[in-house]
Amino acid sequence: MNDISRKQSARLFEKAQKYFPGGVNSPVRAFKSVYGTPLFIERGDGCFLWDADGNKFIDFCCSWGPLILGHNHPTVRGQVEDVLGKGMSFGAPTALENELAELILKNNKKIEKLRFVSSGTEAVMSAIRLARGYTGRDKIVKFDGCYHGHSDSMLVKAGSGLVTFGETSSAGVPKSFADETIVIPLHDKVALEEAFKQFPDEIAAVIIEGVPANNGLLIQDKEYIQYLREITQSYGSLLIFDEVITGFRLGFEGAAGYYGVSPDIITYGKIIGGGMPVGAYGASAAIMKNISPDGAVYQAGTLSGNPVAMAAGIGQLSELLRPGFYDELNAKTQAFVSAIEQYIQDKGYRVKVSFIGSLFWFAFTDKDIKKAEEIDPASMDFFKEFHRELLNRGIYLGPSGYEVGFISAAHTPEVLENAKRAIFESLDIVKP
Ligand code: PMP
Repeated sequence: MNDISRKQSARLFEKAQKYFPGGVNSPVRAFKSVYGTPLFIERGDGCFLWDADGNKFIDFCCSWGPLILGHNHPTVRGQVEDVLGKGMSFGAPTALENELAELILKNNKKIEKLRFVSSGTEAVMSAIRLARGYTGRDKIVKFDGCYHGHSDSMLVKAGSGLVTFGETSSAGVPKSFADETIVIPLHDKVALEEAFKQFPDEIAAVIIEGVPANNGLLIQDKEYIQYLREITQSYGSLLIFDEVITGFRLGFEGAAGYYGVSPDIITYGKIIGGGMPVGAYGASAAIMKNISPDGAVYQAGTLSGNPVAMAAGIGQLSELLRPGFYDELNAKTQAFVSAIEQYIQDKGYRVKVSFIGSLFWFAFTDKDIKKAEEIDPASMDFFKEFHRELLNRGIYLGPSGYEVGFISAAHTPEVLENAKRAIFESLDIVKP
């Protein structure tokens, strides 16, 4: 099969190189780890995307998660259109913020108060500061393989060994910052215990993605998540759930609701905005009262609670509250994945499709993977070929084998049938 035409995308990419580092405004978009020129997208509707060359795709990236209703959803668009004519930003409170907050807090009992911000990075950065301000401690435990946005203290990764201390994974992070971040492997109680034994009074918080979904889909055992809750409590540390991907996706109460745990602080992101830049962090009223102007932890934002973004959020979240929304979405995902798994099994391919809720991930291995270090980088060669074959058959997955796929309410059973066929054909070519 011939590769899709990328003439217009190539022309636009060449131009973009003049303006942006790597020609992009966020690194993964540059298609560095997959085949060919990045696709410049012209429009999206429902579960479909069209690029600048007129190629049409079934979209399983969904803007990296927020489009749980698909592109251009009439309710979301309608809400935005209603407020657009009234001005786009005031830097002052609006009733829309109250409305969206009420929608969230009435239906998500895991938090009592929240703050809207403009990105997941900001939500996490603020949550970390809040944890430090609240506990009076400096150290943060994070897990190898969890991404929490690009604030300094989160851009630290693990080396090998039981407990690894701050080694920056991005240039430009001062060592003194990185030293405050302890990175340990997922799914490892001993490493966690060691960290607490070593720094019993210094760990402000342990932060984990609700379901780690940025380095493959590393689904943790429920028992391990409960253990996290217990050990943080027993040492007077906070548990932060970063639900930028899982919040309002696994259910309205996200992974916290899914696992039945109550983290101390929860961060949310993109889904709230339905495609507009929104994030949020929330906690009990007692913890949130430490935020300025009530408390001494400063956090602010000119565009926080932006009326257009709030309107989009009201549209999107009210749709998610329709009875049966998540059951339907999750059942659809399960059926889709089960059929693919069956095909893989029949053919004897070395691929696993892990999934939870409406997230899925192709792992080119025959092992169950729970930790970042268990992913063989060589398996990404399969993904590169797979991605190319899928694009040629009109299937758009995010351009990295470490990223998960997303299914939206707009993916109809017929569309998923077509997608399955394309996936089977692509697997038959890649032969993992
Ligand atoms: N936390 C998690 C779990 C994420 O997946 C992401 C981004 N995908 C972020 C934080 C950062 O969010 P943003 O890109 O909106 O800054």
